[in-house]
Amino acid sequence: MSARDSQVKRMADLLREGATMLSQACPECKTPLFRLSSGEVVCPGCNKRVVFAKPSETERVASQSVVASSLEEVLIEKISELQSSLRMSKDVSEIERYAKVLSSLFELLEKVRGAKR
Ligand SMILES: [Zn+2]
Repeated sequence: MSARDSQVKRMADLLREGATMLSQACPECKTPLFRLSSGEVVCPGCNKRVVFAKPSETERVASQSVVASSLEEVLIEKISELQSSLRMSKDVSEIERYAKVLSSLFELLEKVRGAKR
């Protein structure tokens, strides 16, 4: 299994556990960050917790990046839609399908973000 695959698997695991994907990416590895149901924010790429200085600042940065790229916004919207479906799903093959689509969406999101850098 490649590093990329295990990263996607971690993201899928996070979503299954009820974590929410945030619109901001990890400053170190550019992987989308996730907020756990406990309120903690983690990076599935670095596999560690990310601490923001101020939550209000986080929200402000998030809305700025949404304005910056509408494609990115659409991708994030689709990912959170899939996230809800994935959360409801109890069927293993269905979960697998969602994971595959999510994996492509994450890849595309990474490309969109890479193009902006
Ligand atoms: Zn990271």
